[in-house]
Amino acid sequence: MTEMTRGIDEFRQESIKKLRAISSEPLREYMELFSAATGMSKTHALTNAFEFNSKRKENLHLLEEYISRRCMGVPLPYITGLKGFWKTEFLVTTDTLIPRPETELLVELILSEHKRKNLKILDLGTGTGAIGISIAEEKPNWKIIATDISLLALKTAKINSRGLKNINFVQSFWLNSIKASFDIIVSNPPYIRRNDPHLKDLSYEPRIALEGGEDGLSPAREIIRTAKSNLVEKGHLYLEHGYDQKNAVIQILQEHDFCAIRSYKDLSGHDRVIRANS
Ligand code: GLN
Repeated sequence: MTEMTRGIDEFRQESIKKLRAISSEPLREYMELFSAATGMSKTHALTNAFEFNSKRKENLHLLEEYISRRCMGVPLPYITGLKGFWKTEFLVTTDTLIPRPETELLVELILSEHKRKNLKILDLGTGTGAIGISIAEEKPNWKIIATDISLLALKTAKINSRGLKNINFVQSFWLNSIKASFDIIVSNPPYIRRNDPHLKDLSYEPRIALEGGEDGLSPAREIIRTAKSNLVEKGHLYLEHGYDQKNAVIQILQEHDFCAIRSYKDLSGHDRVIRANS
């Protein structure tokens, strides 16, 4: 008996069992993969509305393939092509980092700490565009420039920004190609140490977006070293960093005469973001 001749109930149960081996949320993942493979809504994954007619059989073959790729360890967003961040779903490709929930802290802080009407924001190393686009959507009067060194990442970010008039994209190695001054510079730079064993678990994602040199702080150092020339007087710098890098980042900021330095924890209780004034 093939997968196709069995009922959808049985297929679902077996798929969830397979996914349980690699995921703590097998049901949610099944629903997302079902929706990506069939074009039906996620809730349809739980009903028997899906019948094995010939067109549907192709969808089910695709779903089987998605499930086996997921069981091999491919991150879910690289199969479905989507990852939710802040209030939107972002297109992701293997040229972009998958946006993490803890990075929403940067968006939340910038939105809650700044009430002025016309601000200029620079998002460095934007990847999918998650940070810059989320801010641009919330604040139509703010002007955002988002950069990345990767043209392929910028292409994805541009697609994600469809329709938004207040965000533009520029290829740049950190601040190298940026001439203007900004009220806020924000970045989630790569910050994992070169020899961190954790990198092996992230092998599907672009290394250039994850690895920050020997101590993980090369990108943060480069940004902090050059940020003041692109910040207005009393401008703000917001940086995401690794859970154990708070003191090192504070020290670099102090070496470059940043003041009003403040650290914030993410929802898991890890030091995750630092804000400083120029
Ligand atoms: N937070 C990511 C992780 O540890 C790393 C993201 C980054 O380097 N900016 O999986």
